[in-house]
Amino acid sequence: MNQSSYNPFLTAQQQFNKAAEQLELDQATRDFLRAPMREYHFSIPVRMDDGEIRVFRGFRVLHNDARGPGKGGIRFHPMETIDTIRALAMWMTWKCAAVDIPLGGSMGGVIVDPHDLSPPEQERLCRGWVRQIAKNIGPLADAPAPDIMTSGQHMLWMLDEYETILGAKYPGFITGKPVNMGGSLGRIEAAGYGIVITIREALKELKIQLNQTRASFQGFGSVARHAVQLYQQIGGVVTCVSTWNQRDGQSYAYRKLDGINYKDLVAVTDHFGEIDKNKAADLGYECLPGEAWIEQDVEILVPAAIENQITLNNVNKISPSVKIIAEGANGPTSLEADKVIYDRDILIIPDLLANAGGVSVSYFEQVQSNMNYYWQKDEVLGKLDLYLTSAYVNASDFAISENMSMRDAVYLIAVDRVAQACHDRGWV
Ligand code: GLU
Repeated sequence: MNQSSYNPFLTAQQQFNKAAEQLELDQATRDFLRAPMREYHFSIPVRMDDGEIRVFRGFRVLHNDARGPGKGGIRFHPMETIDTIRALAMWMTWKCAAVDIPLGGSMGGVIVDPHDLSPPEQERLCRGWVRQIAKNIGPLADAPAPDIMTSGQHMLWMLDEYETILGAKYPGFITGKPVNMGGSLGRIEAAGYGIVITIREALKELKIQLNQTRASFQGFGSVARHAVQLYQQIGGVVTCVSTWNQRDGQSYAYRKLDGINYKDLVAVTDHFGEIDKNKAADLGYECLPGEAWIEQDVEILVPAAIENQITLNNVNKISPSVKIIAEGANGPTSLEADKVIYDRDILIIPDLLANAGGVSVSYFEQVQSNMNYYWQKDEVLGKLDLYLTSAYVNASDFAISENMSMRDAVYLIAVDRVAQACHDRGWV
């Protein structure tokens, strides 16, 4: 199946149906949780630098807010679809429940490639998105955050527009803000560090020393980049990183068998996570076809780019050396490939845990913003470690006791918590 015919919402619903069946949820709860509670579709007119108006399509979907205000990112992507946003919103509900933070799940997006917009045009797009939806979101209802191709600067423009409309300061409206403007220390690193915390726990379980392992990454955006940095800092070796190249629409994998140099590679990467192919070649990196990241002779694979990247088309290319796949992206593995990986006895750390570091520190950021009192970085990262480790251990114990995959265990824990909240509120 090619990427354009892939529908992540159908995948998300199938995953939910399986959990609902195992939990023996009643029909009303199934019907309620299988679809978003609310969704908004809107047009955003933006005046471009040349004076012309271009109209962009924007979305916000709130899947469920039984456990707390909705929380979830905003993506800028040229191939964005409402079904992708629906899937991501549902995954956010389960993710917040899996790490037991008191938030619901939502997601937003705009169909746009921000590479094509100047910074002032991006600012007008951010402000336009907020103008269309300001009445329906907010710190106590649904709070956005960054996701693919959106940054702290985008969040700050959105916050400024929201506060201008409301006529007061609401720093808890949005997370992932720049640190000197109401952001939390540790937020930028959080999703990447979270991946490494869960890898550390998985390696303990498999009785493998981290400093004896090598990893290959798909993606080098703000999630993958910080995971690479921490994993290498504590002794792992990253031999390969692949990114998408906007200029020719292809992906490339950059390889150095004795370990990539994080700083050098960051220096030749743009702020949307794209490595400059020619500059990487000048630094001595082998440049391979993009799919090569999955074939590497490593112990750990980290898909940290986008959904539907490990499928029946490439799952058999995974090397026998691989012991762990940590899902840094949301939904990177198709249902069919997931089964092949489970049968091969490779431990998948599911996205709901592996990439939950971002939303966990978003939660800490909101708490700090609402108090207008900010913590030291060590305190933030210490709490991140505590939340993720305990969610990991909880899911892993359950998976072992029920003889099921980590993904199934996390789904059962999360869906059960959300269903319980809906029952307790008397909704279904
Ligand atoms: N976009 C991130 C995710 O998918 C973070 C969401 C948030 O912090 O609200 O987990």
